[in-house]
Amino acid sequence: MTSATAPANFTELGLIPPLLARLTELEYQQPTPIQAQAIPSVLAGRDLIAGANTGSGKTATFALPLLQKIQIKQLSSTEKSTKGNYVTGLILVPTRELAKQVADSIKSYAVHFNGAIKTVAVFGGVSANTQMLALRGGSDILVATPGRLLDLISSNAIKLDKVNTLVLDEADRMLSLGFTEELSALLSLLPKKKQTLLFSATFPEQVKALTQELLNNPIEIQVQSADASTLVQRVFTVNKGEKTALLAHLIQQHQWRQALIFVNAKNSCEHLASKLSKRGITAEVFHGDKGQGARSRVLEEFKAGEIDVLIATDIAARGLDIEKLPVVINFDLPRSPSDYMHRIGRSGRAGEVGLALSLIDYEDYHHFKVIEKKHKIRLEREQVQGFEVDKEINDKLLAELLAESKPMAAPEGSGKKKRKKKTTINADIWAGHSEPE
Ligand code: AMP
Repeated sequence: MTSATAPANFTELGLIPPLLARLTELEYQQPTPIQAQAIPSVLAGRDLIAGANTGSGKTATFALPLLQKIQIKQLSSTEKSTKGNYVTGLILVPTRELAKQVADSIKSYAVHFNGAIKTVAVFGGVSANTQMLALRGGSDILVATPGRLLDLISSNAIKLDKVNTLVLDEADRMLSLGFTEELSALLSLLPKKKQTLLFSATFPEQVKALTQELLNNPIEIQVQSADASTLVQRVFTVNKGEKTALLAHLIQQHQWRQALIFVNAKNSCEHLASKLSKRGITAEVFHGDKGQGARSRVLEEFKAGEIDVLIATDIAARGLDIEKLPVVINFDLPRSPSDYMHRIGRSGRAGEVGLALSLIDYEDYHHFKVIEKKHKIRLEREQVQGFEVDKEINDKLLAELLAESKPMAAPEGSGKKKRKKKTTINADIWAGHSEPE
């Protein structure tokens, strides 16, 4: 993986003035690591494989070079641009929210091209007619979810023959959401000769196979998204049946604004919201059964800070860019260990300190260890005063922990009497809040 000395400012990356001006307006002071490492090579036409999560600045990593290349081509071409129903840059994403978000970012980066570059987003869940209209006359950049894009191709609204840059954003998520067939159908419609940029937070076998099939001598970059300097991960053990009370206590104690809480099922969102409401906490819910309009509204209000607590399923775990989200809480642990990283990647964005908190009861304990193992992390089990785990269970957990660390020598002390786990709270990371307990 690449880690060459990276340029420290955007000018050195080789970006053109209209983009540099926009970055200044957006107050991007310096490139994020992935931008610094990848943009020069992407501008030079190389394929890219990047291990990067949302929050790393990956959107600009592909969007800025893509815009620059399209602009230069437009300026150097003597022919009047006739886009037909073709597209030049294709960005495939797993969810509609991400499609909208990426398209919005691209449009924002492109403001100084004064409308010369047309970006369209297409995704399922809304009428295809408006999207067909938007695609009339083709587009320079198309951000799409795979299923809807195939539908639009079959109704001749768009053709992929002239794509010269393909971006696969959150490739792992696309595959895990079951887009494998759609993806191969789409890939077969693309020209052989093109630049391909693949972003994925994790690299399961399916993604590795895809990269081998697609990428030509790519540069490889790995960015640690859950960087300790920006994101603090903590885990609180709690008795079964006391999670809601603990959650309510923490929310009230810390007066969190913009806390994103993950549960595993749509109806758990509603259920938890109603239990919190009985404790005087207003929460909104975000899940796949909500209509597109309601999802967009809730997201906008959450982003604007009008909603303090949002309870969501994993549909919110990927791609949603909510600036400076201070806290993400796993009320239910994600079933898949890779979703743990995606969930906590919502916090500690762009250099801000964030907190990722997991509440685990006895039944979650083993699964959390699997998550830790997968991500090569080890977090201290903490307890909150007033919500201590029953001694019996605590002792059992400790015994399991000790058994696992065999063939180590017996622990300090007798070995019969288990030491009580220390209750520790690192008050310093609760930035801006009163000290807990
Ligand atoms: P992304 O990983 O693309 O979802 O970006 C995460 C957030 O970081 C977005 O709000 C971007 O606007 C912001 N961002 C991206 N690059 C930079 C940068 N170089 N400096 C400051 N913020 C950035």
